[in-house]
Amino acid sequence: MKNNLHDIVKNGLCIGCGLCQSITGKDYIEILMSSKGRLEPKELKKIPSETFNKILNVCPGVIVEGLPKEQVDTKAKHDLVWGYYLSLYYAWSTDDKIRFESSTGGLLNGLSLYLLESKKVKFILHTVADSDKPMRSVSKLSYNKEELLNSESCSRYGPASPLDKFHEALNLNQTFAFVGKPCDIGAIRQLSKTDERVNRLCKYLLTLVCGGSTEFTKSQDFIESFKVKEEELSILDTEDLEIQEECILKQKMEKNLIENTILFGERNLLGEFILDVKFVQML
Ligand SMILES: Cc1cc2nc3c(=O)[nH]c(=O)nc-3n(C[C@H](O)[C@H](O)[C@H](O)COP(=O)(O)OP(=O)(O)OC[C@H]3O[C@@H](n4cnc5c(N)ncnc54)[C@H](O)[C@@H]3O)c2cc1C
Ligand code: SF4
Repeated sequence: MKNNLHDIVKNGLCIGCGLCQSITGKDYIEILMSSKGRLEPKELKKIPSETFNKILNVCPGVIVEGLPKEQVDTKAKHDLVWGYYLSLYYAWSTDDKIRFESSTGGLLNGLSLYLLESKKVKFILHTVADSDKPMRSVSKLSYNKEELLNSESCSRYGPASPLDKFHEALNLNQTFAFVGKPCDIGAIRQLSKTDERVNRLCKYLLTLVCGGSTEFTKSQDFIESFKVKEEELSILDTEDLEIQEECILKQKMEKNLIENTILFGERNLLGEFILDVKFVQML
């Protein structure tokens, strides 16, 4: 039974996406880090039942659906693992900065940059590191290359609320692209059924392979194993750790920066390419 927000949270259904806060505004809901290290909404004052019903109709903790059958292109093929697709490619950015500073080849940042520079959208709504607390993530509206790339816009494995600014983005009445996890995209599709601005303004939905996010406590345990506290941290680059190559952990020591680089192996360069984004057909 889902009578209030707490029911969704206490049943372990909430993914912390932030869309409910974006619907009600911060007067009603605040997204807070729980003691278990998860981002969860807290009801600050009673949400009117009409608004709560709006939340129930879009919340990815309550409703998760793929692309509606009628929207599947008639030319689409189907794969047991990948689902419906028109074509499948290996892809990576050919801009070395984007490729090696992004997560796994920089395709999402490369495509986001393309959408900005070709003026297909005014801004990108994506997820970046909190500049004051780099272990934490915040959503961001980026209007140019510098804003897009100089903010640790790579895989953020800990808790994040990529949709907490979604209504703020819609209210700007400008075209944009959204980058987020498949469940975030599912919530946007649900919202598009009742808010006509979604399909008109949010022109592109870009997503990543996602096996779920980790609790914040995991990151805390990790840095504490190197005797570093969160308030001493200036950079935590965990993507390389994920592929067991290297992990960069920069620690602020008074005015100096001490860089602890943990090396697991060497990067494998895959080759050189002339296009901004390289595609190699898979199937
Ligand atoms: C929570 C999470 C789980 C993942 N699980 C898997 C997995 O199980 N298997 C696997 O192979 N790969 C996994 N990945 C890696 C992911 O598939 C790669 O990041 C993806 O291939 C994109 O690489 P890229 O270099 O193109 O992205 P980049 O160009 O580095 O861009 C990354 C984009 O993702 C956005 N983003 C980052 N973190 C989040 C977040 N938490 N929520 C919403 N948006 C975010 C950023 O804003 C940025 O726009 C996971 C990533 C995340 C964030
Ligand atoms: S909308 Fe998102 S943050 Fe709000 S309850 Fe549902 S999953 Fe949690």
